[in-house]
Amino acid sequence: MSNILVNGLNEKPQNMIKKARILVVDDEAVIREGCVKILSKEGWSVEAVENGMDGIELIKSKEFDILLLDLMMPGMNGLEVIHEVNRIAQHIDIIVITGYATVETAVEAMKEGAYDYISKPFTPDQLRVVIRRTLEKKALLLEAEFLRREQEKGLQAISHEKSKIKTILNCMPNGVLVLDNEKRLILYNPIAGKLLNIREEDSIGKLIDECVYCKDLSDMISEVLNRDYIENTYISGEISADNPLSLMAHNAPIVMEDGEVLGVVVIVQDISEQKAIDKMKADFIAKVTHELKAPVATMNQLLMAIEAGVVGELEGKQLELIERAKLRGEGLLELISDLLDISKIESGLSIQRMIPLNIREIMEDVVDLLKPQADKKGISLNLHIDDNLPLINADKDGMREVFTNLISNGIKYTNDGGKIEIDGSMDKDYFIFSISDNGIGISKQNLPFIFERFFRVKNSKTRHIVGTGLGLPIVKDIIDAHLGSIEVKSDEGKGSTFKVLLPMKIE
Ligand code: ADP
Repeated sequence: MSNILVNGLNEKPQNMIKKARILVVDDEAVIREGCVKILSKEGWSVEAVENGMDGIELIKSKEFDILLLDLMMPGMNGLEVIHEVNRIAQHIDIIVITGYATVETAVEAMKEGAYDYISKPFTPDQLRVVIRRTLEKKALLLEAEFLRREQEKGLQAISHEKSKIKTILNCMPNGVLVLDNEKRLILYNPIAGKLLNIREEDSIGKLIDECVYCKDLSDMISEVLNRDYIENTYISGEISADNPLSLMAHNAPIVMEDGEVLGVVVIVQDISEQKAIDKMKADFIAKVTHELKAPVATMNQLLMAIEAGVVGELEGKQLELIERAKLRGEGLLELISDLLDISKIESGLSIQRMIPLNIREIMEDVVDLLKPQADKKGISLNLHIDDNLPLINADKDGMREVFTNLISNGIKYTNDGGKIEIDGSMDKDYFIFSISDNGIGISKQNLPFIFERFFRVKNSKTRHIVGTGLGLPIVKDIIDAHLGSIEVKSDEGKGSTFKVLLPMKIE
């Protein structure tokens, strides 16, 4: 910046006008004294000296804003003073006082760097006007410089902030991409570049489809951009880029206070290792449970044969013990079959065939299958299915499993003589079904946990009921794989209702 303003920058421009410091240099005592009097009355601090040399000395030791300078003086003349002041205190504005009809000299002085002039004789008003005009110009320049400095500070802060963000992004173990609302890439970190094969140097500013070859990701970003946001939500899902990695993308909108969506932030996670471990785990469970199934089933059959008297008639205590062993064996078989189901779901094998299904038929089949179990306890199974139910796109075995688990739970957790209502109907694009019982219900404390693996309510009413705590998690996994949802309402002692929503068409 120029030196002119250095001394004024600590002051607010308007304050500077009020507190201006003026130096008068004139050999005529009348003019000097007159100026001091007139200008002091305005609140300005004014000093006066009678020659150029004294003026320069004073300027060297004190701060001034304006120099009111007579051009015609004995000794050091006005032009020489202007030269010197421009050299040592550029920020001072010089107003020259010229004699009668010496406008040419004034012009020359202004060429040398004086800011304005006033001709003798002048009235107090004329003097005040010229000083005020000079101060106002000075204030404007100060203001402009002040703004420029503020802007510079702002720009520095932004660039500092940018480099901070860059460092953070570069240190993150996950890929990060930021896109505008037209799906143009605004920034990405090196990990994102590596995971998504963003090779081109100049990919910034390009559409995501031009620099990342991943349709799943592009679709998810579009979905985030086209949603209505009542509150911040994000979409996550696996994506497959042009490489063998398993990637997970979490897409969140950048939403302004007024709800406008400015763009999307995408976090890309490499889940290859996690998936490989999960697969190993699922494979192991599948293998072990498969190996267990045959011997346990054989043991059960042998127990049944013993119970049936194949090795001689049993009586009393013997029968009771065999019955208990059989019950435990059945529990074990149930656990094995649930573990197998879970491992199938985890390795993505269970929901393989989405085909148009006649759901009514499947539900009727399941009800028929479970009827003997219900009859044993005198529980009625009442099926109400909408007559106009269209075909539903879903996995047959998966749906069978869901109905079987929910209805058999209803039977298990309802006292003798109870009833179970099974309803199914269409609502807009959803197939909705619910299974309600008037059984023992689930307490508020336990309700949040029933979809967790191996969770079972433990109390005097459930103690004798055989189960694995895997039925509902399996149901939830299957419903999730159909992009559906499940909710439960329950009153302890009164009964429970499980309600499932399935989107009708899944492409
Ligand atoms: P389980 O094999 O124990 O039945 P689930 O995962 O199917 O396992 O259910 C978890 C727990 O939720 C059950 O142990 C039971 O306590 C409770 N539960 C499930 N369905 C019902 C129901 N219809 N009525 C009451 N409690 C239920």
